[in-house]
Amino acid sequence: MDEELIYLSNIKRTILVVDDEEINREILGGILEDSYDVLYAADGNEAMAVIEDKGPLLSLVLLDLMMPVMDGFEVMDEMQKDIIHRNIPVIVLTSEESAEIESLKRGAADFIKKPYDMPEKILARVKRIIALFEDRMIIQSTERDELTGLLSKSYFYEYASLQSKFYPDRKMDAVVVNINHFHLFNELYGMNEGDRVLCTVAGAIKTYAERYDGIAGRGEGDIFYMYVTHRDDYEDFAAELKKAITGEYRVHNAQVRIGVNECIEQDVRIEMAFERANMAGNTIRDDFSRVIAYYDDKMRKQRMFEEKLIQDIADGIARSQFIVLFQPKYNIKNDKPVLAGAEALVRWDHPEFGMVSPGSFISLFEENGLIQLVDDYVWRAAAHQVRKWKDKYGVAVPVSVNVSRIDIQDEAIVDNILDIVKEAGIEPKDLHLEITESAYASDTHQLVDVVERFRDRGFMIEMDDFGAGYSSLNMLTSMPIDVLKVDMKFVRGVNEDEKNFRMMELIMEIADFLNVPVVAEGVEEEDQYSTLKDLGCEMIQGYYFSKPVSPDEFDKFFE
Ligand code: C2E
Ligand code: MG
Ligand code: MG
Repeated sequence: MDEELIYLSNIKRTILVVDDEEINREILGGILEDSYDVLYAADGNEAMAVIEDKGPLLSLVLLDLMMPVMDGFEVMDEMQKDIIHRNIPVIVLTSEESAEIESLKRGAADFIKKPYDMPEKILARVKRIIALFEDRMIIQSTERDELTGLLSKSYFYEYASLQSKFYPDRKMDAVVVNINHFHLFNELYGMNEGDRVLCTVAGAIKTYAERYDGIAGRGEGDIFYMYVTHRDDYEDFAAELKKAITGEYRVHNAQVRIGVNECIEQDVRIEMAFERANMAGNTIRDDFSRVIAYYDDKMRKQRMFEEKLIQDIADGIARSQFIVLFQPKYNIKNDKPVLAGAEALVRWDHPEFGMVSPGSFISLFEENGLIQLVDDYVWRAAAHQVRKWKDKYGVAVPVSVNVSRIDIQDEAIVDNILDIVKEAGIEPKDLHLEITESAYASDTHQLVDVVERFRDRGFMIEMDDFGAGYSSLNMLTSMPIDVLKVDMKFVRGVNEDEKNFRMMELIMEIADFLNVPVVAEGVEEEDQYSTLKDLGCEMIQGYYFSKPVSPDEFDKFFE
């Protein structure tokens, strides 16, 4: 766009003239007042007061150097300290050529010689500098994060990549800073205070980064990036951040966590290097005793393991590497326990890692939605197994399958499982759906809706891991269920700990009130078994009877 056009648009810019001699202020005012709104200050202190007050409204400062109270150099130093103020161009008014270098160092954009030149020349200079800075700001606005003035994420990555390309021998660290539970901060104190926290943290990071030949950037929300020459540790950085935070009103409540990926290797993409630093930081998300975490070999291996699993899942499904085991559930109401059902539990017989337990991949696949692939596979296997047993023994032993909270977010889930059941030639009541407690923390409306639709079709709903720690208690009143599965941790200590025993008693009372049977999971010992029986627990699943076994092995439970 034509520079002149932007410049001549009819908004009147505001200029601050700072000079201790009245005559000088008058001369400059006379030159400028036709074209600009002009503000005046007679010394550095007054100037700073105007700058604080008008801030981003100022298009230019014309600054005398020699003044009482606070001189021009000090004003420039002060302005540099503030993210907004440092972007206001300064033209220094001076009669001494020697002062020019010193002024440039402090960020001056240009000079006007005293005694003053022809008015047209001064006006032209003022115009030019304002236009120049406005253009620069427009370009910068894509480069920089508007709120904090740090580099935007994409520019940050770009600069860091360039640096690593041009200086391959420099040892560099990737550092990611997060503010713990920042959303809470916004909710508690409002967006303005939230912005203030972000700016404070950003300021401290920038200072540190610049000191060690680095750059700083901001990602989404409360994520900050720093790319710096390698440091042995970041204790001093943590201390500086803490100091900046504690120094500010209200901001002192904020806490950060720092993830560091040291001496990043040349063949690692910059984005990946920072993702790893972030991953390290996230390992201490809920650990308030730690502020810094370093990406290490263990994490590297874990990450590679997980990436491999993600890469291999489609193949694993196609080649039937997933194995579905069945663990019996017994009804213990009467003297002799009776086989009452089974739970389908998955494992992955991975060609490289051997037998991988669900603990290693369920939550990983929940994070990226891949869990649906696994669960669909398991549901089909379970349904077909029910059918086989029915054909062989003439009775349908219901099998429970696990349903992840991610599965429930898919509107099609009810029809999908209905299709699976039809295809296998069994009844919906033969397939019990275990919905884990963590599902109750997400969209409860949708969950209740899905559960009701399942029950209308005749499926049995079991609440899995009851008491494990989420919000299942208040869901009990709004969501219809058929079975309550008590989390293993209560069973564990039922004979060792008075509190656990009381808890178990209480759960039995709740179940009684809701009129649903209780399944106790993870029963291993005889005395756990008898205590639970005495408490009126209807069903038991655990190593006491059997570990999860293959369908062939399961045959023995029918005999
Ligand atoms: P869960 O649904 O609560 O399953 C019970 C877990 O307890 C199973 O672990 C089972 O092997 C184990 N267990 C049963 N009895 C005992 C016992 O007496 N002592 C001990 N120490 N453990 C016992 P597993 O098979 O490792 O599964 C862990 C979790 O992974 C399951 O917890 C479930 O949440 C999830 N999971 C397993 N299979 C699937 C699946 O196909 N889909 C989904 N979405 N999740 C699954
Ligand atoms: Mg389960
Ligand atoms: Mg469970």
